[in-house]
Amino acid sequence: MATLPNENEGLIDGMPRDKRGNWQPEGGTKPANPVFAWPPKPVEVAKWLYHYLFPWNLFYMALATLTWLYFQPDLSRTTTFRADWIIEIFIRNQIMLTVFVSVWHIRLWGRKSQGLQYKYTSEWLATKKRQFLWGNQLYDNIFWSCVSGGITWTAYEVLMFWAYANGVIPYVQPLQQPIYFVFLLCLVPLWRLFHFYWAHRLLHWPPLYKAGHYLHHKNINVGPWSGLAMHPVEHILYYSCILIHWIVPSHPIHMLMNAQHASLTPAQGHVGFEKVVVNEKVNMAGGSYFHQLHHRYFECNYGEPDIPFDHWFGTSHTGSIESHTAMRAKRKTVHDV
Ligand SMILES: [Zn+2]
Ligand SMILES: [Zn+2]
Repeated sequence: MATLPNENEGLIDGMPRDKRGNWQPEGGTKPANPVFAWPPKPVEVAKWLYHYLFPWNLFYMALATLTWLYFQPDLSRTTTFRADWIIEIFIRNQIMLTVFVSVWHIRLWGRKSQGLQYKYTSEWLATKKRQFLWGNQLYDNIFWSCVSGGITWTAYEVLMFWAYANGVIPYVQPLQQPIYFVFLLCLVPLWRLFHFYWAHRLLHWPPLYKAGHYLHHKNINVGPWSGLAMHPVEHILYYSCILIHWIVPSHPIHMLMNAQHASLTPAQGHVGFEKVVVNEKVNMAGGSYFHQLHHRYFECNYGEPDIPFDHWFGTSHTGSIESHTAMRAKRKTVHDV
């Protein structure tokens, strides 16, 4: 595939970049999920499945399980809305969010441990920019993530724990239905991406964009704290994926995984680096170039390639010259009408 040229390639820190300092990974974005390919591609599907589970989604499964076992107020306490257990959940979530996002931020953006290597842009987070709170992109992003994000995340969990405790919503016992329990746990990330696409698509409807989503898009050059930096209107819609457990029979571990996945994966998705250099030989997968292009161009890549709605509906920008030309042609048609 011919990818966008790193035009007038200048070398910044050894990386070829275009005039604006953008770097284009070889091969462009991650390909569309082969599970949906026809004719079937069994080898590709097996590879996809491996990367789907290892390491990150298994990490989220383990995190939700450990949270439930060791850091969760007992359901006998959550039958009524009381400040003590609600505050416990709020503090737990704040600690989890801060630790998780900081691990990405401090290494790559704070200490700049690998400089601009594999970085999508040549810029760092903005300071003295009026569009951000206190003129500082990092402080702005932390504020919206922890205050609006932390409160909305906790509010949804509180509602769900109250509902589980009072038998208002269906409850699945893992030992009685182990296969269903594990199967559902594996589906949580896909459900999240399905929901994210539609919620995000809705947020680009002009009234909702003006009411909330504009705030996330102030971040064109994104870092880990930009991921959950959203307006409360967007948080309410974004976290509504948790309400699926009102309908689909599940255990609180499923709900916790759904909520934690929604809260923590944006840090990695917005990390701004294609790879994390661990040592000279090992590079760990970094952020989502697909979503990075959404922040750069706005009118493409509303979801992620694992649920390939963008590929089906003609809004995907894979980093290829063809998709760039198609996006520009479409933009021209829309603006000429
Ligand atoms: Zn958007
Ligand atoms: Zn984003």
